Amino acid sequence: MTPDSLKRLREWFRANAAELPWRPADLDAPRDPYAVWISETMLQQTQVSTVRDYFIRWMKQFPNVETLAQAEEAEVFKYWQGLGYYSRARNILKTAKIVAGLRQSKGPCKMPETRKELEALPGIGAYTAGAILSLAYHQREAILDGNLVRIFSRLYELDFLPTDKGKIIDCHASLQEARNDVQVSTARELAHALEKRSSHGTKCNDVRASEIYWEYARKVADSPKAYMHNEALMELGRTVCKTKSPLCETCPLHKECRAFLDGRTAEFPPAKKRTEKSWHGTVLVIESADEKILAVNGGQKFLDKQLALPHFESARHATVALPAKAEDYINADDVESLKHCGTFRHSITVHKIECDVLHVQLSTKAKSAHLPKPTANSDKPTVFEWIEKAKALETFANSFSLKALKKCL
Ligand code: SF4
Repeated sequence: MTPDSLKRLREWFRANAAELPWRPADLDAPRDPYAVWISETMLQQTQVSTVRDYFIRWMKQFPNVETLAQAEEAEVFKYWQGLGYYSRARNILKTAKIVAGLRQSKGPCKMPETRKELEALPGIGAYTAGAILSLAYHQREAILDGNLVRIFSRLYELDFLPTDKGKIIDCHASLQEARNDVQVSTARELAHALEKRSSHGTKCNDVRASEIYWEYARKVADSPKAYMHNEALMELGRTVCKTKSPLCETCPLHKECRAFLDGRTAEFPPAKKRTEKSWHGTVLVIESADEKILAVNGGQKFLDKQLALPHFESARHATVALPAKAEDYINADDVESLKHCGTFRHSITVHKIECDVLHVQLSTKAKSAHLPKPTANSDKPTVFEWIEKAKALETFANSFSLKALKKCL
């Protein structure tokens, strides 16, 4: 992108930046690195409109690294509940504890200020590190998220994604050499420049898809205004260069956007090759005579390391009968009644889930005090816990279990 187009981008951002709880009114003010870290982690895979309230609630409860580092995992999950991808919440807590442990004096905890240190922390990848370094510390560090990928793909007609495997361009010169010597604006030009160099017998290197995208991102960030370029591109991708029907007429970059000029915006970026996996299972809502519900932590297909309802893979239920797998959790002789409460659909990562929900009422002789024991063939540690039925909806911190519970309660 030329200095002129970056200037237009900044002007557009100053005029159009949305008010967001993690964005101060002064767009040039350095941000709180903790707030950048939390908001950017929440925004991964989740829309801004959803994150808004979660972020406000979170910052009230955990206003800084110190308070977060002292929290229990269950409390952190409670404030994350509904955002999905619970490994993100778990990693946030782990990182907070590490950062708190790094504090050398009684001063406030400080997020690290180098990419290397940040990327060594759980849950902080290249994107989040770049966001913290540029937005909070005003360093010339690049970011690359889905918004920037979409914009670069359209600006330069890149017909591949950063995640595409294999060698995108086989070449016989280094990317660094080409970058220094030639002005390139498209991947094809880059490939061509590299091929040209190969005839001069220069060193062999392979340029991979993600390197090309990161190279464009680094060029945008190679400026004292990196923080604004990065954030402006994220905003542009979210509000103007949208996945469907981009608003090109209002885009500050349309004069140089190849996909727009060629009338090919719908072709870029190319569709993701995503392989979804269907999974059908059964969720058990096991209720004891003293009105407690059995919860399991660990050893299950989904939702490891958090309380979830017992579940396992199964065929669709043609009749209401106790599945053999249910005896991993209870003794069949203790069952007083069985009811099929319905089915629900859910998604976890690439899994498209459909589950039957069975309510299993235990007889009076099976009090919750008689906890079931983990099965001997369990390959992961499993903890069973009986929770008050009246508090069940507020105890589970995952929508998978909540959807099943709501079918029965
Ligand atoms: S001109 Fe259109 S396609 Fe190109 S960057 Fe702008 S909004 Fe996206």
